[in-house]
Amino acid sequence: MPPRTAVFFHAHPDDEALLTAGTMAMLAAEGHRVVLVVATAGERGLADVRPGEALGETRMKELYQSAAVLGCARVECLGYGDSGLSPQGGVADERPDDAFIDADTEKAATALAEILREEQAELLTIYDPAGGYGHPDHVQVHRVGKRAAEIAGTPIVLEATVNRDPLLRLLRLAGKVYRFPPEFDVRTFESAYSAGETITHRVNVRRYARQKRAAMAAHASQATGGDSDRTLAVMLKVPGPLYRLVFGTEWYVRRDLPPGTRVRHPFDPGPK
Ligand SMILES: [Zn+2]
Repeated sequence: MPPRTAVFFHAHPDDEALLTAGTMAMLAAEGHRVVLVVATAGERGLADVRPGEALGETRMKELYQSAAVLGCARVECLGYGDSGLSPQGGVADERPDDAFIDADTEKAATALAEILREEQAELLTIYDPAGGYGHPDHVQVHRVGKRAAEIAGTPIVLEATVNRDPLLRLLRLAGKVYRFPPEFDVRTFESAYSAGETITHRVNVRRYARQKRAAMAAHASQATGGDSDRTLAVMLKVPGPLYRLVFGTEWYVRRDLPPGTRVRHPFDPGPK
């Protein structure tokens, strides 16, 4: 396979580690060019910062570390404000003027499309329309990313997601013998991410578990702080034995393939 370019579009530093790190490491190992773009520096995440340093600065440093481990050739931040999350989930009332959620879709998409064109990207990853577990910035990644691919004519668009079926099955089973911490609510997973029947790509990334763990570890400020509804914090509440299930496979939905398509590589064109 000749080298191709894949752009991974994420909302905040750390999202790449959870959802697409294994795929990124795999493509880089295969000789492809892997580019990481975040919409925001994640400055409204957990505030576990070194003295005298702004959180956005810390999180961008963590992102560069993670990107280096995964073999990324380029890292860009679109520079929008982290919209944050209200305590009930959903859009926070207090948010910065330049919050990503308030961004003009066309303008943000044009900025991303410019990178896609420069890179002659053949593949772009975004999120499912629900934005995974529903963080407003993640929903916006879906909208902006979809439009950017249209503008740039990027042929392959994959929605990074999680197969919620086995996750829910195991969580319910585990709930019978294991007392989840009170802040862990299995029901939040019932409408999050994607049902297995809609998933077209199941990428086995067990061989890249070391890089994926290292990418997650790079985001120390988000893994060690207090309460948060961030993806990393939400996922860290998943009990240990379920980790392998969540992290050994990465899942994507490619909407222009016929329903029921099952492929294993991001560049697999699917049934003819
Ligand atoms: Zn995020």
